[in-house]
Amino acid sequence: MSYFVDSHCHLNSLSLQGKAGATLPEIVARAQAVGMSHMLCVACTPQEYAPMREAIAPFPGIYSACGVHPLNLEEAPNWKEEELLPCLQDARCVALGETGLDYHYAAESRMAQLDSFARQIDMAQEVGKPLIVHARQAHHDTVALLKEHQARDVGGVMHCFCDEVSMARACLDMGFYISFSGIVTFKAGENVREAARYVPLDRMLIETDCPYLAPVPVRGVENEPAFCRYTLEFLACLKGISAAVLADITAKNFAELFKVNLASSSLADFNASSLGVKALNPYKLERLLNCPLSTAVC
Ligand SMILES: [Zn+2]
Ligand SMILES: [Zn+2]
Repeated sequence: MSYFVDSHCHLNSLSLQGKAGATLPEIVARAQAVGMSHMLCVACTPQEYAPMREAIAPFPGIYSACGVHPLNLEEAPNWKEEELLPCLQDARCVALGETGLDYHYAAESRMAQLDSFARQIDMAQEVGKPLIVHARQAHHDTVALLKEHQARDVGGVMHCFCDEVSMARACLDMGFYISFSGIVTFKAGENVREAARYVPLDRMLIETDCPYLAPVPVRGVENEPAFCRYTLEFLACLKGISAAVLADITAKNFAELFKVNLASSSLADFNASSLGVKALNPYKLERLLNCPLSTAVC
């Protein structure tokens, strides 16, 4: 069986009014149709977790994660361990995140972010689950805090990596994985492409971070897991291997990091018609995705 995983998406943030007025089962069916086998759906506050968990419940092969996002500290300024803990103990929850530091959009809340991030690294140790880290213009503090709180013991991933090679190197040195989103396909993403060339295949993950950051050639529309194939094809070209091989390698990395058995449940078991979704014919799907399913991006 072959695997293809979107390691970071926010299905609960999709407008679900995008192309063809898609419902969640349709979004999942579209991902399934491009060969996607698994997804990791991420909640950014403990409050967000329960409704998100309910929404993904019918779909085998969609894992969950929960953390307090650095940009959500206004909504959850005094979040409590006892609110986050039950989310982390849920059977489908494979990681603590996303958490981290964002000085690009919220430099003024630096002290609160540092406190929140440090508490979450400690909690990840307590529950023994890896971290999903969001870092924007906070290179130094992120690495320092991860080191100070021994994040290496639980491991984790730098999601939606958009930093320099030096940051990638520092994170790899701590045993972390690096996940690439559609940013790697952007014209202005040369630093990210440089990092992607540098990161070894056995430490690489791939994600959409949807509904944000749709990759070229679908930039500007609402992102969804099916579009992960563009990032996959682009990265495969960059690394000089086939998309199928890269899908399998990144899926294997995903299983190793999040300690999951991909064979035990998969979107391949999802029966779209049982939820009232009409199967898309390949022609219609290719139009929906704007290019032939077999065409590489570069
Ligand atoms: Zn993020
Ligand atoms: Zn995210």
